[in-house]
Amino acid sequence: MRKIGVLALQGAVAEHMRSIAAAGGEPVAVKLTEQLDELDGLIIPGGESTTIGKLMRKYGFMEAIREFSAQGKPLFGTCAGLIVLAKRIEGQEEAHLELMDITVARNAFGRQRESFETDLPVKGIEDPIRAVFIRAPLIKEVSPEVDVLSVYNGEIVTARQGHLLVSSYHPELTDDYRLHAYFLNMAEEAANRKKA
Ligand code: GLN
Repeated sequence: MRKIGVLALQGAVAEHMRSIAAAGGEPVAVKLTEQLDELDGLIIPGGESTTIGKLMRKYGFMEAIREFSAQGKPLFGTCAGLIVLAKRIEGQEEAHLELMDITVARNAFGRQRESFETDLPVKGIEDPIRAVFIRAPLIKEVSPEVDVLSVYNGEIVTARQGHLLVSSYHPELTDDYRLHAYFLNMAEEAANRKKA
């Protein structure tokens, strides 16, 4: 069974752990960088990206997660986690991990639509998935290496670049575990590639 960590500094940790378990993985709440060694994949949850970024710097996760990524191990960022993975954040000079070649706009859906739910088609998943958007970021630009997996109202909300997966929305707040199953599959592939 693949071990999937959920970065447990701030945000929707328990919900991701539940979804990973439901999708057939073994969830691990990650509070220390040493825990990364035993993992096959890592989720950076939603919450507040500035806070998560600060705590990551404080506890040594910036370098540790960049190293994890350099080994080809999969990362999945949801909502604030997407912002943390992005190379560029609109209107901010500094980004966080700068791993995924995308530009994001924070809180991009505007006040009237701060939160909403929808059924969203995602490339690689058969039927639309249930997606919860809460003060969600949008992906404004992607490099050619990035595969756009879904678009909502003309805006990119799910994308993948090799071993990196991001969603603007919260897939962990529903009983639909298919995006977590998709990520587990990425972790399985990465682990098998290593063995080969
Ligand atoms: N608006 C938050 C941010 O900018 C993200 C919201 C979320 O994760 N639900 O960090």
